[in-house]
Amino acid sequence: ATPVGHVLRARGLRVTYGGFTALDGVDLELPPGTVTAVVGPNGAGKSTLFHCLAGTVRPDAGRVMFGERDVTRLPAHARTRLGVARTFQQLAVFPTLTVAENVRVGAEQGRVVDPGAVERVSRLLGLDGAVRALPAAGLPTGTLRRVELARALAGSPRVLLLDEPAAGLDTGEVAALARVLRALAADGMALLVVEHDLDLVADLAHTVHVMTAGRIVTSGPTRHVLDNLEGLDTVVER
Ligand code: ADP
Ligand code: MG
Repeated sequence: ATPVGHVLRARGLRVTYGGFTALDGVDLELPPGTVTAVVGPNGAGKSTLFHCLAGTVRPDAGRVMFGERDVTRLPAHARTRLGVARTFQQLAVFPTLTVAENVRVGAEQGRVVDPGAVERVSRLLGLDGAVRALPAAGLPTGTLRRVELARALAGSPRVLLLDEPAAGLDTGEVAALARVLRALAADGMALLVVEHDLDLVADLAHTVHVMTAGRIVTSGPTRHVLDNLEGLDTVVER
């Protein structure tokens, strides 16, 4: 059964690079059935926060909890196994494997190997037709992004972390992506979207956190936060 309450939760995250503080006491909760967005200018610490949740950056202080379990010291692949999936900005697709094989690898790295889930995810992302038998190498970027998302979803994760998922997609592809992500949240998944594109955020997120200089400075329901960004023009690129 889907755990009730907050699936993935960060408390007091602090990350320093040399003498530079990239995250300075960040709290964040990703509730099931919800799309949470983090916005803010370049260098705000969004990707660092993302990496702390995914397990690719170890915080200097603070904790990451998955349900009741402290996963702060758990490496990324072990979090994936528990059900914390992510996509990669540099696509993590095996070029010599077919589309279907890439998706199956994702299932094997995930929480459960469920052929039914692999089928559903492939259908959801429009990868169930002739394209399934093609090698990933040479496919257009938009298709590769769908393969990458299918790979992340194939292991039936509880949480999906996306860093700038709209980057490089055209308007139609962004709209299709938004539909897929909304459907996943409606099914009970907890999603985090780190995103520059405020139109996508407005279209998708239930909750928005605005970050600047390593801190969350504003949080709330999407409409409310985006309608009150005027005073934050220096904080968020438009
Ligand atoms: P964002 O994703 O919001 O653009 P990042 O989390 O990538 O921000 O970066 C936050 C700050 O931390 C930036 O000033 C960046 O230069 C710095 N930073 C990020 N990663 C590293 C690193 N591996 N080493 C040193 N500084 C880094
Ligand atoms: Mg970033």
